[in-house]
Amino acid sequence: MRMHVNVAVIGRGMIGSAAARHLAESGTSTALVGPLEPAERKNSQGPFSSHPDEGRITRIFGRTPVWAALAAASLARYDDIASRSGIEFYVRSGCAAVFPDASTWIDAAAGYDLDAEMVSDEWLLEHTGIVAPPGNEIAFESSPAGHINPRRLVAAQAKLAHLAGAHHVVEAASRISRVPAGYEVGGDWGSITADRVLVTTGAFGSELLGVQLDVERRARTMLMAETQLMPSLPNLISVAPDERLHEIYFCPPVPYPFAKTCLKIGGNMVNTRVLKPDELVDWFHTDGEPAEMEALENSLRALLPEIDIASITTAPCVVTGTPSGHPYIGFVDDGIAVAIAGNGSAAKSSDELGRLGASLVAAGEWTDTLDPSIFIPQFG
Ligand SMILES: Cc1cc2nc3c(=O)[nH]c(=O)nc-3n(C[C@H](O)[C@H](O)[C@H](O)COP(=O)(O)OP(=O)(O)OC[C@H]3O[C@@H](n4cnc5c(N)ncnc54)[C@H](O)[C@@H]3O)c2cc1C
Repeated sequence: MRMHVNVAVIGRGMIGSAAARHLAESGTSTALVGPLEPAERKNSQGPFSSHPDEGRITRIFGRTPVWAALAAASLARYDDIASRSGIEFYVRSGCAAVFPDASTWIDAAAGYDLDAEMVSDEWLLEHTGIVAPPGNEIAFESSPAGHINPRRLVAAQAKLAHLAGAHHVVEAASRISRVPAGYEVGGDWGSITADRVLVTTGAFGSELLGVQLDVERRARTMLMAETQLMPSLPNLISVAPDERLHEIYFCPPVPYPFAKTCLKIGGNMVNTRVLKPDELVDWFHTDGEPAEMEALENSLRALLPEIDIASITTAPCVVTGTPSGHPYIGFVDDGIAVAIAGNGSAAKSSDELGRLGASLVAAGEWTDTLDPSIFIPQFG
């Protein structure tokens, strides 16, 4: 394959597909390099993504003003992405946050266009059927919070990138090397060259960089409870009723490709397993961690005592985290930048993270009004 582009984006995931769209739509010649999701997870050597399901919570309120800014900018563009691609991915279903300091979630989103208020345990039970763990504050964002389908958002971004002229190399890269023309990005399929490279490979791809980023790859188990559609159920992020978990989140029931309607619940184990890069593939061959499955099911039944569960399916996933809790967006070498480490929160904000990565790599320097020091990659 002979191709030279201004920017090669490696990783056709949530951030990479957004970056490729922003680059291509701003007139930069772009290649988006990354495989599709493996057809058979348990027989594949990867790479795998951290968005392999049908539901991700979206909201503006949250733990830091930075995340609120990233989410607000992304949410403002959802309708445009959906209408121009013809791929719908967003449902406005609201989101409740149940924590001792949940009011700070609304404070962090001050100044943005959202409809959020503090509510009581009784209000939450009456309006949603959720039994909140006692002794907490409850913040409720009714709009624009909801859930997105991450696979469909990636498809929409990739389609718009293609329509704007981006080349798609539907393969994994195994190396980036310096060449007279800039950088060569290659694999057993051949190679392309680019002036600059943006690496957006999520939990995978550490072998591509000449440096080691200070990230943790945290094993997560997702539990899909087969049930019926519940139109008045919002998304939930909450302290967990089961003490083996720090916190849980769930997305309301949506149709899954295996022809079932499922509510998805996941969480953050007190004893989170941190994976080394060479343990990732084996983790993705499992169905998740049995203790986590049990703790998630207990939590779900405590939060929604009336739920009728017909069957349970589980799957593995990985959250890539940084010490700061914010992603890394910055150059790690002369012409190689990263937009990586979503900290379990990047799906909703992936369009803005992709835009920031795209503008950085296209300009060769940070040009945004957000403080770049928040995103400087750390090594370790
Ligand atoms: C269980 C779970 C629940 C979550 N829930 C939420 C939520 O409710 N709301 C929210 O906002 N966020 C949520 N997140 C976080 C969100 O899904 C991630 O932050 C987001 O997917 C990160 O996007 P990314 O582009 O960095 O990585 P990914 O989406 O994982 O994309 C990386 C891509 O790079 C590709 N790749 C890897 N290596 C190579 C290579 N060598 N060559 C080419 N391509 C490569 C992979 O195939 C993949 O497609 C959740 C995460 C998990 C695991």
